[in-house]
Amino acid sequence: MPRLEMREIEKSFSGVQVLRKVNLSVEGGEVHALLGENGAGKSTLMKTLAGVYHPDAGEILIDGAPQKFRGVLDSRRAGITIIHQELNLFPNLSIEENLLIGYEDEFRNAIGWIQYSRLRSRVRELLDRVGLDRDPSTPVSVLGIGERQLVEIARALQQEVRFLIMDEPTAALTDKETRRLFEIIRDLKRHEVGVIYISHRLEELFAIADRVTVLRDGMSVGTYSMRAVSEDVLVERMVGRSVENRYP
Ligand code: ADP
Ligand code: MG
Ligand code: MG
Repeated sequence: MPRLEMREIEKSFSGVQVLRKVNLSVEGGEVHALLGENGAGKSTLMKTLAGVYHPDAGEILIDGAPQKFRGVLDSRRAGITIIHQELNLFPNLSIEENLLIGYEDEFRNAIGWIQYSRLRSRVRELLDRVGLDRDPSTPVSVLGIGERQLVEIARALQQEVRFLIMDEPTAALTDKETRRLFEIIRDLKRHEVGVIYISHRLEELFAIADRVTVLRDGMSVGTYSMRAVSEDVLVERMVGRSVENRYP
C-alpha cells in the first residue's frame, strides 16, 4: 500500500510563517481529511505537496523515499495530483480539449492519428468513470459547477494517480452532486488511491473520511480516526478552545 508522509513542513510568505512544522501521513486506500478554520494553512500545505510551492523546511516521503519536487510536474510524476479550491478549466475549450491538455506536453512533437483516436476513447472512458453524461465536444462554459468539478476529476485521473488532493470540492455542489462525488471517492479507495479531502463541513467528514488531521494556525494539532472521534473534540481542536466557550 502506498504511503505518503509530510514531516515538519515549514512555509513563510514574506516573513509571515504560515506552516509551522506540520506533520501529515496518508495511506493508499484511505480518505484523509484536513480540517481547519479559514486561513489555517490547508491549501498552502497541499500546494507544497503538489509542487506549487517549495517548503522552506521539512521533508516529503513516498514509501519512505525522500522526494524533491522542483515543480508540479515532479509531483505528478510521483503520483500526486491536486484539484484546487478554485477550478482550473479553460471555459472556452471543450470538455475533451480540457482533458487532453495534460497530454499535449507529452505528445507535443509526436502525436499521430492513431494516438489521437486512442486518446479520444480514453476521454470517453474517463467521462464514464466520473459519470459525466455529456458530449465531449461540449464547451465547459455551458456546464454547471458540479459538472465542471467532474471534468476536473476526470482530468486528474487521466494520469496514474496514487494520491489525490481535493481542496474543498463540495463548496459549490448540490447534495446530489456531493453524493456522486462520494461514489467516485469510494471507487478511488477501492483502487488504493489515497485521497486527501479538505473540508470544514464536519458532517461530510463523518460521511466519507477514515481519518482527519486538524490544522490550527499552521500547526498540525492532532490526527484522529473518524470512527473514534466526536464532533465536539474536532471543533475544540480546530478553534483551540472548548466548545462551551466557543462564542465567549
Ligand atoms: P486555508 O486553506 O486553510 O484557508 P491558506 O493556506 O489558504 O489557508 O492560507 C493560510 C495563510 O497563508 C493565510 O493567512 C493566507 O493569507 C496566507 N497565504 C496563502 N497563500 C499565500 C501567498 N501566496 N502569499 C502570501 N500569503 C499567503
Ligand atoms: Mg481558505
Ligand atoms: Mg484553502
